[in-house]
Amino acid sequence: MANSRTALIIGASRGLGLGLVQRLHEDGWNIIATVRDPQKPGALGDIPGVRIEQLEMNDTTQLDGLKQRLTGELFDLVFVNAGVMGPLPQDVDSVQPSDVGDLFMTNAVAPIRVARRLVGQVREGSGVLAFMSSILGSVTIPDGSELCLYKASKAALNSMINSFLVELQRPDLCVLAMHPGWVKTDMGGENAEIDVLTSTRGMVDQINAQSGNAGLRFINYKGESLIW
Ligand code: NAP
Repeated sequence: MANSRTALIIGASRGLGLGLVQRLHEDGWNIIATVRDPQKPGALGDIPGVRIEQLEMNDTTQLDGLKQRLTGELFDLVFVNAGVMGPLPQDVDSVQPSDVGDLFMTNAVAPIRVARRLVGQVREGSGVLAFMSSILGSVTIPDGSELCLYKASKAALNSMINSFLVELQRPDLCVLAMHPGWVKTDMGGENAEIDVLTSTRGMVDQINAQSGNAGLRFINYKGESLIW
């Protein structure tokens, strides 16, 4: 069925971001997708009709440039997907301050910088603002100690989303902190539990189901509620 909804996917060069673009394209969405290097779009460049924009999330000049280029667009979905795992091993004694800074800037602060600039262009009533969180961001679940810095960065993202929404005062907005599952990507590794197709089909189905349902929810790709 023809579908005129528009999505903005932040961080779509590979992995889950690319998968989200593929699923939304299958469903007939108009898509704007960002990558750090538009000269090398990879498989994203093979998807017809996708408008590719450049964004290094940690560069505020690029963020402002993207905001300017997107003036006048109205989004049914803004999905801030980009993220990093951080330094390995995640040893708190040996880790470098700059590596911790890069991890928290990319995973917790930059997504809010994106959202602050673009939330005014999320469609009133039915629009969805989604962030790629992780079940590891749940502070009440003591899993993932070998990824303790990454886990803390996603807990920080969840906290930053809450603070952002208090400041924003947009009670009409549907905001999702999403756990994609443990997924076979460069980050998730080949031993992960599910593939990109399963995860991204699930997430797109959840976005459709949650549209119009105002408020903030922390859910996984199957729509199950997670503990903050
Ligand atoms: P991935 O294959 O490593 O892809 C990461 C994506 O983020 C790439 O497109 C990368 O772009 C982009 N990115 C990283 N830093 C960026 C920055 N500073 N500015 C702009 N783009 C940046 O990882 P993935 O598994 O698809 O993960 C996507 C998201 O899901 C992440 O937020 C991750 O934490 C989350 N997540 C993944 C899993 C899993 O099992 N895979 C589980 C829970 C949560 P480049 O290609 O330019 O590097």
